[in-house]
Amino acid sequence: MSHMRDSLIFWLLLLALAPMSLPGQAKSPTEFMGRAPGTDFELAGWETIGGWFDQFGENTPTAMTLNVGTSTEGRPVRICVISSKENLANLDRIKEISKAIADPRDLSPAMAESLVTEAVPVVFVSCNMHSTEIAAAEWSMTLAWDLGTSDAEVWKQVRDEVVTVIIPTVNPDGLDRVVNWYRRIEGTPYEDAYLPELYQLYAGHDNNRDWFALSLEETKIVTRMLYKEWFPTIYWDVHQQGSLRERMFVPPFRDPLNPNLHPLTISGIGALGSRAMLDMTAAGFTGISSGVSYDMWWNGGNRNVPVRHNIIGILSEAASANLASPIWIDPSDLIAPRGIETGYAPSNRFPAPWPGGWWRVGDIHRYTTSLGESLLGSVAREPETWVRNSLRVARDVVQKGRDEAPRYWLIQPGQRDANAVSRILTILDSQGVEMFVAQEDFEGDGRPYSAGTLILPREQPYGSFLKDLFEVQRYPDGPAPYDVAGWTLPLLFGIDRVEILQSMNVAMKKPDDLEVLTAALSRTPENSEVFAQLGEDHFKATQLDLHGTQWVREIMKAWGKGQQVILHGGRKLQGVSKNPTVLTVSAEKTEPEKNSVPQFSAKYVYAAPPRVGVYAPYVASKDEGWLRWVLDHYEIPFKRIRNEQIRAGRLEDFIDVLIIPDISERVIRDGRKPGSVFPELAGGLSPEGVIHLESFVQRGGRLICCGRSTDFAVDQFNLPLVEATQGTEELPALSCPGSILRTLPVEQEVGPWTHLLPEMVSIFHSGSRAWHVADTAEEHQPEVISLLEYPRSEILLSGYAKNTATIAGASTWVTSRVGDGRLHLFGFRPHYRSWPHGNFELLMRAIFFKH
Ligand SMILES: [Zn+2]
Repeated sequence: MSHMRDSLIFWLLLLALAPMSLPGQAKSPTEFMGRAPGTDFELAGWETIGGWFDQFGENTPTAMTLNVGTSTEGRPVRICVISSKENLANLDRIKEISKAIADPRDLSPAMAESLVTEAVPVVFVSCNMHSTEIAAAEWSMTLAWDLGTSDAEVWKQVRDEVVTVIIPTVNPDGLDRVVNWYRRIEGTPYEDAYLPELYQLYAGHDNNRDWFALSLEETKIVTRMLYKEWFPTIYWDVHQQGSLRERMFVPPFRDPLNPNLHPLTISGIGALGSRAMLDMTAAGFTGISSGVSYDMWWNGGNRNVPVRHNIIGILSEAASANLASPIWIDPSDLIAPRGIETGYAPSNRFPAPWPGGWWRVGDIHRYTTSLGESLLGSVAREPETWVRNSLRVARDVVQKGRDEAPRYWLIQPGQRDANAVSRILTILDSQGVEMFVAQEDFEGDGRPYSAGTLILPREQPYGSFLKDLFEVQRYPDGPAPYDVAGWTLPLLFGIDRVEILQSMNVAMKKPDDLEVLTAALSRTPENSEVFAQLGEDHFKATQLDLHGTQWVREIMKAWGKGQQVILHGGRKLQGVSKNPTVLTVSAEKTEPEKNSVPQFSAKYVYAAPPRVGVYAPYVASKDEGWLRWVLDHYEIPFKRIRNEQIRAGRLEDFIDVLIIPDISERVIRDGRKPGSVFPELAGGLSPEGVIHLESFVQRGGRLICCGRSTDFAVDQFNLPLVEATQGTEELPALSCPGSILRTLPVEQEVGPWTHLLPEMVSIFHSGSRAWHVADTAEEHQPEVISLLEYPRSEILLSGYAKNTATIAGASTWVTSRVGDGRLHLFGFRPHYRSWPHGNFELLMRAIFFKH
């Protein structure tokens, strides 16, 4: 409370002192908020910051604020474009030139030279994607104000020579969530407590893992601006890290370097970063590092995907305060930047260590302003150099696609999941990748392909991005990767793709319509009309093709129309030659035709979809968020189930299936520590919630556990499983921080779960579990059935994995009957970050196939 009173007095004082703003004149951030941006204990929400940008854009001749889309939870996403009046008046032409430089295939050398001279480089500044990295949201106002209105030489030059596009927050929903939480905890004993909810509805911090998969609205909006509209030269992503290491990281990045990145882009990143280190050191800033911690190996981060689109990608990471609360850092607590082995002392990558002391949100503002001045100043001093370099990079990438293998990737008709095909085509199109459809049968590398095949030529300006997305990743020798090492998109999506090495001669054209193309590339669904007999009555039924996930959408639609759905056990039906497993039954009774009346066991008939619950602890689980994303993607209704609801018992009163995402056994049982957070958010399931969960399964409920939560299930239900990834005395532990592995479905007589799955299923392994079923199960231990196993060899498909022999033959999806209910244990996460679209159908089978 005292802060509020203080700030009110401050505000009144300031109002008295401030010169009155004239109508039609923009207010500075300080005038608008009644305090300076970056004031201790104060955080502005999106209404304030967005409101400031609106009036600033409206009343400033050198700035324009635009609404560019709507966030996941419905807030406006804004950008602010700042440049000289002349440049703003000429914006269409500037964009046209940027586009021509980004795709120079039609430019003659003379034409290109003239465009380089005329071009005005576009620099994007992306702020506050990670909402708890809060400083940049308010700082974006300071940058806009200085850049738009200051008479200082550096800012005037930037206005004249550069078009700057500021994204004040890439994630407005999260900004408000964090600000509201801060207002709730500030001044309470829980001032250190972290958010109980994700700060992006589905992804939280993983919103910076979405830049190749484009599952989130915010990512889609920015991606569209970059590769369809603005074609920037530079993209600067403003972040914060922990509090105890360097005050600020600037590029160059650390190794390994992905071979698909152009050396000129890498050198450009290094030059801007090194110049910033120089300028900031000259200005008296200490604690700046480079060449540590952060790399650009993988394709998916906010800075990494632009780099694969020939854009200079800059990342900065400032040390954090405690949101807006200052922190005292004792010199003895300071830690050397990650990767510097010589302790907290001067290094070539960290020439001037910061001495320690108070660290405030205002300090982050000062550092970031200084960095901005250097970065934008560098571009403004030599605009032609940066434009000419990006032209050169684009030309080289196209040329390389012509000269080097692989030259194409193909997606042939007959893919098993139309839903995955639709998604991959949308991703490629949104990322600016050119696609073609073969107009005739053709040969590639000496073998035949049919007309209608999708052809993705590497010979295009974004050919490096395409290659990086479609090739198999081989992580270089040396230390293990920190995180994701393999991301081959067709493998993740369960889409068969062919790599073509030699040039081809084939008539091809761009697709007119992605929906038509999706249908052409996907299996023709073998949906056929049959009759169903339930009890005495006959109904018209549709027998659904079980390949992929289209059937999920179909049965959700059928339920929506009040129809019934039969999930059949995979045995041959009488009178039906096929081997169907899912049928939708129309609500209308009908007269059967002769000889077409199969019998159905009423046991498997659903009049409504199963009632799905998603376990949502108060630790803000990203994996829980992504699980919700997948369910929402298929429009499957679900409830979020909280600790107190489970502790209350009788779960069967309101759910049939409970899914526990990747959450540690400790969090499931104990939750957040009492005293560390408001009482209603503390604690876990133990003991009564655990007991009720057990009875829920005993009485017929289905429990699906993914990733780490399987530890809980193995312990609690006494399953005869021995965890395999940790190795044994003879076998070293598996090392695989994030890569694509091969598994084999095991066909089972007892249930339909693996029926008609492809011969091989590629899964994403990241801290995943695998088990051997114990030979000597104790008495009373439930029987476990293995549904998905690692093969004996060739386990790694893309990325990095060491000691794979340790998991050879181990299971990573098992099921077990417990009482009247059933358990499903996925050692991996079939919904991981929304990436492994090819695994979604496994999850759907566990949810829908009761048996
Ligand atoms: Zn961050």
